[in-house]
Amino acid sequence: TPTLAVVGRPNVGKSTLVNRLLGRREAVVQDVPGVTRDRVVYDALWNGRRFKLMDTGGWEPDAAGLQAFVAQQAETAMRMADAVLLVVDASVGATATDQAVARVLRRADVPVMLAATKVDDDRLTSDTAELWRLGLGEPHPVSGLHGRGSGDLLDAVLEVLPETPRDDFGASGAGPRRVALVGKPNVGKSSLLNKLSGEIRSVVHDVAGTTVDPVDSLVELDGEVFRFVDTAGLRKRVKMASGMEYYASLRTSSAIESAEVALVLIDASEPIAEQDQRVLTMVAEAGRALVILFNKWDLVDEDRREQLTRELERDLISVRWAERVNVSALTGRATQRITPAMRRALESWDTRVPTGRLNQWLNDLVAATPPPVRGGKQPKIMFATQAQTRPPTFVLFTSGFLEAGYRRFLERRLREEFGFGGTPIRLSVRVRE
Ligand code: GDP
Repeated sequence: TPTLAVVGRPNVGKSTLVNRLLGRREAVVQDVPGVTRDRVVYDALWNGRRFKLMDTGGWEPDAAGLQAFVAQQAETAMRMADAVLLVVDASVGATATDQAVARVLRRADVPVMLAATKVDDDRLTSDTAELWRLGLGEPHPVSGLHGRGSGDLLDAVLEVLPETPRDDFGASGAGPRRVALVGKPNVGKSSLLNKLSGEIRSVVHDVAGTTVDPVDSLVELDGEVFRFVDTAGLRKRVKMASGMEYYASLRTSSAIESAEVALVLIDASEPIAEQDQRVLTMVAEAGRALVILFNKWDLVDEDRREQLTRELERDLISVRWAERVNVSALTGRATQRITPAMRRALESWDTRVPTGRLNQWLNDLVAATPPPVRGGKQPKIMFATQAQTRPPTFVLFTSGFLEAGYRRFLERRLREEFGFGGTPIRLSVRVRE
């Protein structure tokens, strides 16, 4: 389960808020190894989602050491948690210490949210707005006294809290990266798998700590073991009888779902088929990294090549961000370029843009090209944060609806600025009236 860390100066109402967030239920206090005694982790549950709530800083340093102490707290939270909630006392406003902590948190590569506590009457709601200048996005007002706002706050937090804790990620411990090798019948999947398996010194059957599903193949490429999912049919060269397309497509979809990156084979010697496009759409919609392999390149002549260029612009425009390699499973042409392409795509898929950098870029962009006016109103984009990786998922906080054209513009510029070659990216907009 992912962890949300709560940080803030002493006496801002942090403990009251934590208790509110935990509700009346018995809090389970856990001992987390390697964590000092001033950090407590609770199991929390909201709207059916489990997460851990980490309350930092149980003791209070003297006033002189306060700033360093809270900054340290923030550093730790950023390193250990999957999202951070900064608590600020709205009745006092942003103090120098709050600002110092906000500066630290703006560098975070995890989402950061802002809670404004002690908003016990409407008068204070306007003071809350002042907290925007901490540069951490929307301040969420809560009242410790009557608990008002804590539900909305939790909704907002869970929206940016990743499903998967950061420690579950990455090559270390998580086992080989999972690859789906897909494409329409006779495009050359078995041939390619054999080629790749033949080039390697050994097909690894047992990697320490991994149980191999018999339908998967472990293949060592370029010194790294990859797990090709659901390849049993390919290995046995089982051919589909006609009328089995429906099942083949179910199979494709489940292979894509269980993979991190999809290698989609397309027969370059023939016109791009609707079926090819369907598979590509499946990958994009499933949010997986994508490498398109144009196979049978040995059959491609000058004419076909020009045709293919036109088809690419017409049919594959929605996945123009994909990594692409022209290969031949028959001759082995360019097959050594597959692994690097797969690694680039996975790296993009894993990328996280720090909140500070993201907003700096966004502010400049929006200043130069503001969203189009709708219904006489100019929607403002207040703040953005990357809520998830795998695939990179961004949440924009705005004062009004953003048109599809402008969203596409933002996505295009986001790609130009930060790369993301080989991965779909997602953009969601939260409108605040
Ligand atoms: P699968 O159904 O996707 O697994 O396709 P296969 O690997 O069984 O290949 C189908 C046919 O295409 C076989 O006759 C292969 O020899 C042929 N084939 C596969 N890759 C290539 C290639 O790169 N070039 C050429 N010319 N033929 C290929």
